Amino acid sequence: MVVNKFGGASIKDAESVKRTTEICKHKISNGIIVISAMGKITNLLEELTLKYFKNESYSGDLDSFKIFHLDIISALFPTNHIVFSKATLFFELLIKKLESNPSIDYDYEYDQIVPFGELLSTLIISEYLNYLNHKVSLIDIRKLLKTNDTYRNAKVDWEVSSVNVNKEFKNLETKLYLTQGFIGTDQNGFNTTLGREGSDYTAAALAYILQAEKVVVWKDVPGIMCADPAWIPDTDKIEQLSYLDAIELAYYGAKVIHPKTIKPLQNKKIPLQVRSFLEQENEGTVINSFDNLTLPPVYIKKDDQVLISIKPTDYSFIVEENLSHIFSILAENKITVNLMQNSAVSFSIVVDNELFRIKNAITELKNCYNVKYNDNLELITIRHHISGAENKVLNRRMVLVEQHTRSVARYLVR
Ligand code: ASP
Ligand code: MG
Repeated sequence: MVVNKFGGASIKDAESVKRTTEICKHKISNGIIVISAMGKITNLLEELTLKYFKNESYSGDLDSFKIFHLDIISALFPTNHIVFSKATLFFELLIKKLESNPSIDYDYEYDQIVPFGELLSTLIISEYLNYLNHKVSLIDIRKLLKTNDTYRNAKVDWEVSSVNVNKEFKNLETKLYLTQGFIGTDQNGFNTTLGREGSDYTAAALAYILQAEKVVVWKDVPGIMCADPAWIPDTDKIEQLSYLDAIELAYYGAKVIHPKTIKPLQNKKIPLQVRSFLEQENEGTVINSFDNLTLPPVYIKKDDQVLISIKPTDYSFIVEENLSHIFSILAENKITVNLMQNSAVSFSIVVDNELFRIKNAITELKNCYNVKYNDNLELITIRHHISGAENKVLNRRMVLVEQHTRSVARYLVR
């Protein structure tokens, strides 16, 4: 049994939905298909959530959300199809949520709103496959995938989820199911999300629980590349990758795979194939337990980074007590550190620009330290670095922090 996953780019308009459903018709007769939100809908819902949370007008975003899906539905189905009323039900649920006052927990509010992207996409794709006579059962993954309540970065409760998933997905060798990636529910039944781009992780989690023979992630790139082609155009595809390399690349910010995806697959030695829905003859990249592969330099970039420099107010040394205090503040604010560096009197960290989290953490840090920060930076990592490899990407840019280990070079640049 194979778990196939399709992301936003493969279902960004009616035409791509047709292409993706053709792939399903011809290549996927059984098992599970995991789908994320269509196109850039998650970004749109993020903006909507922020406005709702700040008591600003979100009606433009809400209209865009409805129109986007209705346009696609209208292009795919006859006017009297049941999908119209099913979609309307979801719109009404979303509106009902938005008409209530937001709580003070932004992450919670986010998770109650953003999953509507996946709810709509899976409704549309499953209805369309059935309309094309490729029979598929739509499963609401929120009933099965149970998580803790760390909203926006929820952790899967493997025990409960395994029982649910095994009970629901039956006869996978003959039946085809379709379900949402990225979302789950906590023990109180509130929606949770697994972190941006988390649909790959859902596919991996289902494969792990059900002992799938393989996971296939369909992308708009030929496979895993030595760099994001949008950034470095003349870049090569990697044919084979070990789990360890894949984990490292994802950790440093390679967007092709979600960082959490690999571990469950590695644990059960389930291969992951990353392939293109545009070039179907191309087999893409296979991630498996390979040894002794030699890889060329791989370039990874994280945008929108913030450098925070922390100094004791009295110019004393940074000692272990300071570090543990600083980290407790970071942990409380759920901030992940992408790079750190310390000197005698200062400690610097590089983090993603996470609006409220960074602001809160800086306010707290300022009670005890002098805190400076620089934003709008890029963190470039070169894995399998060889001398001179950085010339390709640094060209005279200002380097604020630089770090080297045996095979990895990292540059924080403006
Ligand atoms: N729709 C979610 C996102 O865009 C999850 C995913 O695409 O995997 O982050
Ligand atoms: Mg996506």
